[in-house]
Parts: sequence; C-alpha cells; structure tokens
Amino acid sequence: MIPYGRQSISHEDLAAVEAVLRSDWLTQGPAVPRFEAAVAGYVGAQHAVAVNSATSALHVACAALSVGPGSRVWTVPNTFVASANCARYCGADVGFVDIDRQSYCIDAHDLERRLRAARASSSLPDVLVSVDFAGQACDYEAIAKLKAEFGFRLIEDASHAIGATFRDQRIGALAVADITVFSFHPVKIVTSAEGGMLLTADSDLAESARRLRSHGIERDPQRLLQKDEGGWYYEQQALGWNYRITDLQAALGASQVARIDGFLERRRALARRYDEALSALPLQRPWQRPDALSAYHLYPVLLRDAAQRRLVYEHLRDAGIGVQVHYLPVHLQPYYRALGFAPGDFPVAEWYAERTLSLPLYADLTEAAQDRVLAALSEALK
Ligand SMILES: *Cc1c(COP(=O)(O)O)cnc(C)c1O
Repeated sequence: MIPYGRQSISHEDLAAVEAVLRSDWLTQGPAVPRFEAAVAGYVGAQHAVAVNSATSALHVACAALSVGPGSRVWTVPNTFVASANCARYCGADVGFVDIDRQSYCIDAHDLERRLRAARASSSLPDVLVSVDFAGQACDYEAIAKLKAEFGFRLIEDASHAIGATFRDQRIGALAVADITVFSFHPVKIVTSAEGGMLLTADSDLAESARRLRSHGIERDPQRLLQKDEGGWYYEQQALGWNYRITDLQAALGASQVARIDGFLERRRALARRYDEALSALPLQRPWQRPDALSAYHLYPVLLRDAAQRRLVYEHLRDAGIGVQVHYLPVHLQPYYRALGFAPGDFPVAEWYAERTLSLPLYADLTEAAQDRVLAALSEALK
C-alpha cells in the first residue's frame, strides 16, 4: 500500500530518541527547549512553545487570546475539524468563511463581505483561524488589511506549512499572525509522533501559552502573584491543562527539524513531477501563489464531479494507492449541523470537497511508486 503521507525516520532520529530513553528526563527535560529553539530558529520566530499536538496548540492559542463564552471565532470549512473545535473548547461561537476556487484557502473577498455584514450587526469576530491549506500561505496581504480595519486577532493554523514562505518570509514569522501553530503528526512535513507548537512574537502570549500547557502553573519567582514562600512554591494562576510534549517526542522533532530542507526539497521535486505528468490528464492540478512557496503537505487534484471522484478513489484504492479526501467541509459534520450549519452555506468549499482527491506525497515516496500512482490514475481516467 502506498499511503497518501507518511513519516521518514533516519538513524539519527532513532539515536536522538534512544539518547533520551537513557537520560534522566523522559519529560520536562532539556529536549523540549531544544526542539522549541530549533523550530523558532528555523522559521525566525521570537518565541516557541511546544505542546503535545496541534489541536492542543490551537486550544492554548484561543485561551491565550482570551477566547471564551460570547467570543466569536471564524475559520474555513476546508480544514481539519480541530481548526474550529478549538473555539468550541473555550465556549465560543464558530463562524465560517468560504474558500477561494483557485487556492482552496480562505477567500479574502468573502471574508471582507462577511466582516462588513458582521459590523453592521455588531457581531464582528474576535479571532480568525486561517489555514495554510496543503502547505500554501493564504493571501496575507489582504488579511492584514482587513485585520487592521476590523480589529480581529489572527491564529494561523500552519499545520500543513512549516517550511513554506509568503513573500520570502517563512511561515511562523509573519507579522500579521498573533500566533502560528504547527502540527508534527506523522503525515505532516516533520514529525514528533504527536506534537504541536505555538510561535509568536508576543512575549506575553508566549508566557501565557507556557503556563496553560502545564495546568496554568507558574514557577518563575518574577511572575508570582502572591508572596514567594520558598523554593517549593508555585502558583496556579489560570485554568490550564496537561498538554506537555515528552522529551522523547521533542528529541525526535528536533532531529527532524535538522532534516527539514531535505524533506521540503523532496516534496517540491515530487510535486513538480506530478505537475508535469498530470498536465496531459483531464483534471485540475493545484495552483501555486506566485508570491509564496508551498511546503506541499498535500497534492490535491480536482476531478470532474463527485461521480468521477468516487470512481477514481475506488480504482486507486484497489490498486493499493492510499488516496484521501482533504477535507469534508467542517460545517457539514453532524456536530456543526446541530449548531445550525447546513448544505449550501459555503458553496465553494462544498463544490471543492465533492471532487478533490489528495495524491500520495511524502519525502520517502520513490519515483517508481509515484509512477505507479500516475499509471493507475491515467488508467482510471480512461
Ligand atoms: C493535522 C491538523 C491539525 C491537528 O493536528 P494534530 O497535531 O493532529 O492535533 C489541525 N489543523 C490542521 C489544518 C491539520 O491538518
């Protein structure tokens, strides 16, 4: 079976994890700040806070931005459910903005239209969660203008996009984002098995995120609210969680970050190979922003319609090729329908979701395996 995505594990990765197992610290040790420094250094971010998943990172990001009951958080339907769920964990209301037909990321025109309507009804969002779908940056120039006009905060869900750039700046260091979130799940660009990270230029948000990942507890004598009783003293200053990443995971993550340029180069070369080979087939290849460089987490192609997508999916699955659909529109999940969303609410996301199929793409995919995918695909489209 050729999966749609999978990890690449080297001898160095194995050695890094083994070294932790033989050390004094399996968790809360030195591998965690090492991983944070490696990612912050790579993307050029001021602060990095590692947690045990991107889902946790999104939850912590919302909490650090004071999202709570009565808050409004907007995101897109074309994402993993976690981009919306983070707001619900905090008791906030979720709204959606449709996607763009070309980039499959947030449609800045639809965002503007909805913001104007929301201002007229005094229901502006507090936070927007943008999603760098498939590894490609959103239109952050347009989003920055709207952010300045309407005053929302921005969480950039860059779970797909570590190593991507927008206008020559690495994702994770864009000034427009209050907090950027990465995922280190095994199908993503780099992995720590499970893991996530928040990146921010704001030291208060970073401190808040650090407390929230560990029960809301503060141990730094400089930051105590009450009298310091001695070396044993700590304070729970907010309601946080145990979202800590282990040193085993962080050591794997740090070792993977050292390999990221190779991962990205390989993904981009395979994407170019798909681009060339697929130009002869009757399907829509992914579009690339001219002012951004994708990390190519995914390679989604658009088929003619839902019926053809089903046919191609079955054919490729039967041929041992693990194609996948990214994503079922979040607003059509039963949980969100129960909140009042319905088919037709976000027509472009629904149009896209009916005909998209992600082809296998990962650093260890061989050209021979990719050729097998291409052969099965052209066979299915005959
Ligand atoms: C994978 C993913 C997440 C969740 O990541 P985990 O690390 O598995 O919690 C969130 N948002 C998007 C867009 C993702 O692709």
